[in-house]
Formats: sequence, structure tokens, C-alpha cells
Amino acid sequence: MDQVVSITAIRRIAVVTVHNPPVNALGPGVPEAIRDAVKSAEANADFDAVVVIGGESTFVSGSDLNYLAQVASGEIPPRDLRGIFLEMEDSGKPVVMAIHGSALGGGLELALAGHYRVLAPSAKLGQPEVNLGLIPGGAGTQRLPRLVGVLKAAEMCALGQSISAQEALALGLADHVVNQDLLAEAVTFAETAPPPNKTRERNDKLVSVNLEDLQGQVRKSMRGRNAPLAAIDSVAKSATVSFEEGCRYEAEQFSRCLTSAESRGLMHAFFGEREVTKIPGVSQDTAVLVIAKAGVIGAGTMGAGIAMVYANAGIPVLLREVTQEALDRGMNHIRKNYASTVSKGRLTQPEMDARLARITPQLGYDGFEQCDVITEAVFEQMQAKKKIFQDLDRVAKPTCILASNTSTLDVDEIASATKRPEYVLGHHFFSPAHIMRLLEIVRGRGTSDAVLASSMVLAKRLKKVAVLSGNARGFIGNRILHPYIREAQFLVEEGASVEDVNSAIYDFGMPMGPLAMCDLIGLDVEYRIHQESRLYHKPGIREPFCIDILYKENRYGQKNGKGFSGYASGRHSVADTAVTQMIHAEAAKKGLAKRDISREEIADRCILALVNEGARVLETGTAMRAVDIDIVYLTGYGFPSYRGGPMFYADEIGLDRVLARVVEFQAAHGEDLWSPAPLLVKLAHLGHKFADHHLGGHS
Ligand code: NAD
Repeated sequence: MDQVVSITAIRRIAVVTVHNPPVNALGPGVPEAIRDAVKSAEANADFDAVVVIGGESTFVSGSDLNYLAQVASGEIPPRDLRGIFLEMEDSGKPVVMAIHGSALGGGLELALAGHYRVLAPSAKLGQPEVNLGLIPGGAGTQRLPRLVGVLKAAEMCALGQSISAQEALALGLADHVVNQDLLAEAVTFAETAPPPNKTRERNDKLVSVNLEDLQGQVRKSMRGRNAPLAAIDSVAKSATVSFEEGCRYEAEQFSRCLTSAESRGLMHAFFGEREVTKIPGVSQDTAVLVIAKAGVIGAGTMGAGIAMVYANAGIPVLLREVTQEALDRGMNHIRKNYASTVSKGRLTQPEMDARLARITPQLGYDGFEQCDVITEAVFEQMQAKKKIFQDLDRVAKPTCILASNTSTLDVDEIASATKRPEYVLGHHFFSPAHIMRLLEIVRGRGTSDAVLASSMVLAKRLKKVAVLSGNARGFIGNRILHPYIREAQFLVEEGASVEDVNSAIYDFGMPMGPLAMCDLIGLDVEYRIHQESRLYHKPGIREPFCIDILYKENRYGQKNGKGFSGYASGRHSVADTAVTQMIHAEAAKKGLAKRDISREEIADRCILALVNEGARVLETGTAMRAVDIDIVYLTGYGFPSYRGGPMFYADEIGLDRVLARVVEFQAAHGEDLWSPAPLLVKLAHLGHKFADHHLGGHS
């Protein structure tokens, strides 16, 4: 594989340059080729030392994830990365790693196997393997602590955060940070370098330290994940056993992690975010519209947030309201938001000023004729939206994308107010729009491929994860949420306490229980949604009543300090046993028998309700692939990333088992609420997974 590595000479220094575009990942054959180059330079009497450098815009930025996924699935055997790095480290001539861009994961492990590290000032170094449910597998957990100490190495491997060149220098991970020319200075460094200083033989920083605080922090901030704890254990070993034994321990932990459900889930989430940007049937080469200027209609909760999203991405935006008062309110909201980010040190004042300057508040449509995209975010009322789209049809230039932020309304009916339905679609941002990563892109009947493709590209610029949804009520996310919230209420009505339901789902890995989520959204909002959804329900089917009775007791959730729970101060909930009692009393009046309900049943009822409805969304084509549903739930609803999303979770359990459980619930709670989705039945019988189903595909 000599084409991925070249050797050139600068005076008596061999320069080994890695060329594996775009990011010099350690794909198959790459580490071997680097090793071979180092060994051949070692054997060549013309050279006194070796410099290893990345030939593209970076050093070796990391492992090749496709390769790792193939090893994980057993398609190809693992390679002996540790052995390869050992051979390099054993070079009798000094090996200087010259690092620019990033040295992450396997890239940092490669750098650690060199004898010296010379860094460009902007270089980033880290061991982010935990983000994929893994730990370093190339002796990183054993070499890193020898340079930076056990605690810092454990932090880097467990938290996965990268460090800067200056930090690396201060920690002893780097030997020199250059001023200007990385290659020239690395070569000079190599010319005067002392004899090889093998990282694995440097033991002075190997002092056992108490890692309990870090373990506690990880258990809290990376709840439900094992890899960060395995990384800490493996680093801790470096202080108590030999390098070889530490490497054996790392190898065991690494292979356990590589085949774990956690890693499969995180890899699915990682690759899924890339996959959802591709729209089946729409060519990747579709010409996209240039977006240089945006417009937003309505400066309420969503409109103000959407305007910030554009301003943050460097796109000037006109923000239109109907009254000066509403406009001022919206702009104050935006200013307050930015000021709070500045006060936390996450934004500079000049940057805040620049972003604010990109937002032009106004009452009319002046300048809207120059906009390339306009997002409507007025209140949820069809007539109001249609009126605006009529105006936009008149005002906007012919190639302007016209997007509605509607949560529930029919995008086709909105488009019918214009003479250009091919330019109309939904851009469903989530609240708070400037923070939530998810953007559902809703395809109308007439929406053109160019407008869809342009929206996908735009979303990336806006730093959103866009998922395409069909134009069906609730789109993907909220449609599936409905049965989840329904089951959570039913469980309390059948005998569970509010706290039982919330804690079982929290322990499943969701950021909060479903009833706590209702309190956050507002029980008044949920009540209205419920009243409206009744219009679509068949009469005679059991309906949950919890939210209705709490609403009538003026319990609106966090906003007035009382909902399913009490809220003593802000968001901090306090159990209110009277609520469960009130619901149980009402259930008794309605003749519902009270019973003991296990935590397992709570988790299955709520989560499998999501899955079963997800299967319907999939078979009707509202979602084109199961991964679309997964990414919606991972990025918009806090579904635990290590479970890979609801559909992936179901695939992991096995659809036959999911179906059996749904059928059990059907027997207990009736056909109308729990009949299994036909697609679930079909795939389970075929022994397939949701992941095998593609719209128009074979399943
Ligand atoms: P909001 O009531 O906070 O804001 C609506 C704003 O639109 C008001 O300030 C109103 O003055 C303004 N407005 C009304 N008619 C207008 C017109 N002709 N021109 C300009 N401005 C006009 O509502 P919101 O919560 O921001 O919701 C807006 C839209 O976003 C709705 O369609 C809603 O369903 C959707 N949405 C809301 C959320 C959420 O969590 N709030 C999430 C996703 C989507």
C-alpha cells in the first residue's frame, strides 16, 4: 500500500507523509504502510531520524469507522494495531510525529507510538472512541497516562473531549508547538532530537489516583453507558500492571465494547445522521438553490428562534411581525437569549452584535422580494397561514423556497394558496429552535426535488439534522409521541404512580419521564392537543383522562408550578402523591381495576407504543426508512443514543419478540389501541428487521 504513504528526504531526515484523503483515517493497510515506511527509513543509512506527517489538511484524524463497523459485525477480522505501533516505537532512530489538524482516536494512538510530538498551534488531540461506545484499542489507554498522568488520561478517554496544542504542551503530550512551518520545524526538531524516548517505557507519571469522582461524573453525564467506565478502568490499570498486561486488559475491554449493544446503537446513530441527508429517489447531484438571504414571518417563540438560527449561520434575515409590540417582544427575546450566551462565555459581545445586525425587524414585506427562503411561523391556524402564503406568492421571487413551520396542518392545503406548490414545503423546527438540532422537512405533494435537496443542504448550513417526512398529521415525531403519552397516562390510571412511570422511563434512558415531559410542554397545551385529536378518534375507544382532570384542576405543569408533579423552584420536580391518588380515585369511579404494574411493563408499554406507531409511519411512507424515525427521536426527543433510536432498539430486541409483546398488550387492552402494525407482523414473520424495509423495497 505504498500509495498511501510516501517517503521523501529533507537533508538526513526521512519524511513519511500519509495520503489517505480526505482525513487520513487509519483504513485497512494504512497503519501497516506507515510502519513499513518508518522501518525502511530506519534501515536506510541516509537517514538519522524520521518525521511522520499528514499530507492533507490534517494528521491522521482517526480510525476508519466503516472498517470498525465491519470488524464489529464480524465481516473482517481485527488487525493487530498494538503490534504495529510497537514495531514503530521500537525504531532505533527517533520518530517525530508532526501534527496539524486533528490527531484523534487511532490518530492520537499513532502519535503516542512516536518518540516525540511536534504540533501546529491549531492541532486538536483526543480519544473520542467513547462516542461510539468504544475505548482506545491501539494501546492508547496505556501510553497516554505515561505522558499526561492517569487522571488526565482517564478524563480524555472517558469523556472523549479533545484538547488544544497548548494544553497538550502543558500536559507533556507535546514536545514542541511550532510558530509557523510545521514540516520545517519538525525536521529541525528531528535533526537535534535525543535518542528514541519510548512512551511505553516512561513510568514517572504512573501514579495511582482516586478516580471515583470521575466515575461518578460519567455515571451522571453519560447515563446508561459502559464504555466510559471501561475506559477509566483500562487507564487505571496502567498504574498497577506492566505495559503488556495493561495492553491485554485494554484488548479485552475493547473487544467487549466493540460487540456491545451500546456501540451498535451509537454507530447506528452516527451513520444514521449521514444517511438521512440522502433522499431516496432524489439524485445527490440535484442542482440546489443558492441561499443568501432569508425571511421569517412571525416573531413569536418559534419565529424568533428561527431568525437566530439563520443569523447564527451568517445568513441575513428579515423578521416580519404584525404589530410593533410583538416585534419588540420578539427582538427582546432574541437579545436576551444572545446576552445570556455571552454571559456564560460561549459567545463574544462583538459576535453577538454581528448576529443581531443580521436580523432586520420590520412590519412590512420590504425586501422580501430578495429572499431565497421564507419561513412562516405564525400561530397554528389554517386561514392565517393561507393568507400569508397568498401574500408570499405575490411578494417573493419566483425561485424562493416557501416553508411553513406548522406542527399539525396540511402542507398541501397551505401550498394551494400559492401558484407554485413546487416551492412550498414544511420546515418543522423544534423548540427552542436555536438549540434543538432536529428539523423535519415536510414534503408536500407538489414539492420539487430541487427544493427538497436545497432544504437538506441549507439544514446542514444551519447546523440542523434534517429528516424528510411525508405530509401526514404530526409528521414523524409528534405522530409517534401520541401513543407514548397515551400509554403513560393509562399506566397511572391502571394503578402505577406518576413517579413509577416517570422513573421507569428515565431509567430506560430518556432524559425525563413522559409525564414530566407533559409538565414541561404544558398540560394546557397537551389538553388542547387532546381535545383536537378527539375529532380523529373512533367513538367508544378508551381515552386517557389524566391530563384532562389535571387541566381542570388548573394544573398546567412547570409553567404554574403544578402538573403531574409539583415544581418548588423552576424545573425541579417534587412528587405530589395527591395527583396519583386523584387519578386512582377517578379510575375507580370509572370502574377501572387497580393492579400492581412492573417497571418492565411500564417501559414496554411506552416504548413499544412508539415502535408500533413507528411501524405504521414507515409502512405508509411518512418516513422513508426506519433510520429516519430513529434520527428524529435521537435528535428531537432525547431518545438515548446508545439505544440507536426506537426502531433500531426494536430490531435489536428482535421483531418476533416485539410482536409477541404487542400481541400481549392487544389481548389485554384491545384491538383499537394495540393491534400490531401490519409491517411489524410481516417483518417479524419474515425474520427481517425494520432496517431492511425501504419504501418500494423488498419487504
Ligand atoms: P406564537 O404564538 O409564539 O407566535 C406567533 C407569532 O406570529 C405572534 O407573535 C404573532 O403576532 C405573529 N403573527 C401572526 N400573524 C402574523 C402575520 N400575518 N405576519 C407576521 N406575524 C404574524 O407561536 P409559536 O409557538 O411561535 O408557533 C408558531 C408556529 O410554529 C405554529 O405553526 C406552531 O404550530 C409551530 N411550532 C410551534 C412549536 C412550539 O413548541 N411552540 C414547535 C414547532 C412548531
